[in-house]
Amino acid sequence: MADIEQQLPVLIVGGGIGGLAAALALSRKGCRVRLIEQAADFKEIGAGIQLGPNVFRMFEVLGLTDAVTRLAAFPENLIMLDSTSGREVTRIPLIGDFRTRFKHPYALIYRADLLAVLLAACRASELIELVVSQKVIHVEETADRVIARTQTGETHAGSALIGADGLWSTIRQILVGDGKPVVAGHITYRAVLSAADMPPDLRWWSMVLWAGEKVHLVHYPMRGGALFNLVAVFHSSRYEEGWDSYGDPAELHERFAKTCAPVRTLLDKIESWRMWVLCDRPPIRNWSRGRLTLLGDAAHPMLQYLAQGACMAIEDAVCLANKVEARRGDFAAAFQAYQEARYLRTGRVQIMARVYGEFYHASGVARELRNLMLSGRTPEQAFESMQWLYGEDDGPTGYGAALRQS
Ligand SMILES: Cc1cc2nc3c(=O)[nH]c(=O)nc-3n(C[C@H](O)[C@H](O)[C@H](O)COP(=O)(O)OP(=O)(O)OC[C@H]3O[C@@H](n4cnc5c(N)ncnc54)[C@H](O)[C@@H]3O)c2cc1C
Repeated sequence: MADIEQQLPVLIVGGGIGGLAAALALSRKGCRVRLIEQAADFKEIGAGIQLGPNVFRMFEVLGLTDAVTRLAAFPENLIMLDSTSGREVTRIPLIGDFRTRFKHPYALIYRADLLAVLLAACRASELIELVVSQKVIHVEETADRVIARTQTGETHAGSALIGADGLWSTIRQILVGDGKPVVAGHITYRAVLSAADMPPDLRWWSMVLWAGEKVHLVHYPMRGGALFNLVAVFHSSRYEEGWDSYGDPAELHERFAKTCAPVRTLLDKIESWRMWVLCDRPPIRNWSRGRLTLLGDAAHPMLQYLAQGACMAIEDAVCLANKVEARRGDFAAAFQAYQEARYLRTGRVQIMARVYGEFYHASGVARELRNLMLSGRTPEQAFESMQWLYGEDDGPTGYGAALRQS
């Protein structure tokens, strides 16, 4: 890797889960990295995050399995209930055969804990320089380098630049220029409840989803069961732009008025919700140009209904580092190979996340069909439907390509 070591550092714009994972993955290949974050500190708001078996394979590559395992909760089941009738629709066991088949666990973690694991690993690397309080607003590419300029007038020279700057990516506008993300018309309220406040009959050691007409509620344990993550979603055309702020509980209660007693009991427990206006984009196949590329939400923002946005960003990081190593520092070639290995997989997740949103929020005949189809499935059939996402699959939409060294 001498070629890489002698070059200017790779610049990464954005220090979220994707940017930190990319810094770590590149440093593991001997590559120097300068990560530039606009905020004064590295922090993750918004409670919990689900981690599929696919991302545990990436943790293995990055040497993070033990650190993540110490902080994660490992649920017994994925349970879906009908939030109108209160009846269970389906229950997929996440231990036993699930683990045997997918080789890695399904986990739930506090976002701040996952970020802390990534940050500690980055701080422990001499090859990574973390820069905060600088917002990149402009990028210039010359024959042998990239120059990033910040809002406060600093410049950073790098051998290549990775835009890991999230849904509202500045680097995407420079590279792809496709305007604002698409507002889904779905609003998410998120909150964290202490175990003491969680009704005892709902303290399930599972990932639970109550599906209703144009609404759904998710809850699951985190931090050894000391906390429960709550995510309430409903359709609304009231909001046009994605932002996060404090939500209006009155609107939430109105939207969930038709749901069963346990759901309303849970919603009543929360006084303060944070609100997100959900956005995504349709998939694209080209998010790189020369020494510039994108990663994570900047490249393929998706709705959260498959719980995979962060997992995809970490897969991207591992894939990108493998391609940079294989091309021995020829970043333009490496970035082409990286996006080639990633666009169908991430595109499939983007599209399927929208489909799952429809599925969770179905009404009328669609709701009946959903309940009928899912309740008739064996765990084996459920696992089969997850194979492309969680299995170490070498096909065009599997994660095998991210692991390939070539
Ligand atoms: C309600 C909800 C639930 C979710 N649940 C899950 C889940 O269970 N599992 C899962 O895998 N995913 C989940 N996701 C998706 C996941 O949160 C995102 O996909 C993931 O956090 C994206 O990480 P990122 O690093 O690409 O972007 P971000 O987390 O957005 O990070 C971007 C970073 O770049 C910085 N930045 C932006 N612009 C600039 C600039 N110009 N200069 C410098 N810095 C800049 C920002 O400050 C930020 O720190 C969920 C999302 C939502 C909304």
